[in-house]
Amino acid sequence: MIEFNSATKVYRSLLGRSVTAVEEFSLQVAEGEVFGIAGPNGAGKSTLISLMLGYFRPTAGSVSIAGLEPRSYVERNGIGYLSELMTINPAWTGEDALARFATLAGVPRQEVRRRVDTVIEQLGIAEHRAKKIKALSKGNLQRLGLAQALLRDEQVLILDEPTHGLDPIWTQRFRGIVESLRRPGRTIIIASHNLDELQRLADRVAIIDRGRLQRLVQTGYDQATETAGVYRLAVVSGADCMAAILPAATDLGGGEFQLPITSVAELNAALAKAIAAGVLVASVVPARSVLEQQFREAVGERG
Ligand code: ADP
Repeated sequence: MIEFNSATKVYRSLLGRSVTAVEEFSLQVAEGEVFGIAGPNGAGKSTLISLMLGYFRPTAGSVSIAGLEPRSYVERNGIGYLSELMTINPAWTGEDALARFATLAGVPRQEVRRRVDTVIEQLGIAEHRAKKIKALSKGNLQRLGLAQALLRDEQVLILDEPTHGLDPIWTQRFRGIVESLRRPGRTIIIASHNLDELQRLADRVAIIDRGRLQRLVQTGYDQATETAGVYRLAVVSGADCMAAILPAATDLGGGEFQLPITSVAELNAALAKAIAAGVLVASVVPARSVLEQQFREAVGERG
């Protein structure tokens, strides 16, 4: 569906200085895939997105979507796009803004209202629809931005930092939204700093740095069976008896423990044992995901 073939993009300033933002980049993203892009600041993520949106052509190599140059693809089919920096006239209401975006995106006039209602429903922003943009919180603005990206129900969706500014509840719901958007024939690209999110959402993740593809990680995440890993437990009381109950746990001090686990069942059994012994557990989080580990290896601490 989307193909980069040794794509290189060099920015040249008027003073003749040049920056190679993307170099010899090759990648194929299939239809039906949710694909993640991760990389530190300056890695070239925005440039890759601009190439896919057809904002400019590669300096060398090629980029195509469904066999077309991105510009032609966008003209024919459109691409749903959530930009990292979306500016909307602060005096418009949320629904005005969506109606205008829908019109701009070429939604037929008689369908604008229906599409706007649908995406408002999808993002749960009905109670904010009549509020002015300037009155919306960052999280609600981000949801509006996402709603905007879904207006035309396109086959290609590109979401740049989609959970930026969302609270944990909406970050969680966002996962549900992406899952509901997944369909055969549709390609969803998500650029994010949040590796945990990409690990959960994406089928594959490209780790890029210095304009190059460093690694392609198959996340293979399956909520039900996600197994081996290290979990971090925070306990409020009972820390002193943890060594006796869970000898495998490493005491990190301050009521924090690291626990290597081979299955979700094992994790639950360990927790049940600790809780039964009177330990009060405040939180349980995966200490490091597969993706995070790969990212650190590929990019080092700069990420
Ligand atoms: P990311 O989105 O991963 O932060 P970018 O694609 O924005 O990375 O940038 C990649 C590199 O290209 C950086 O070194 C950045 O400074 C440079 N760059 C980005 N846009 C321009 C531009 N319009 N002109 C010159 N250099 C640019």
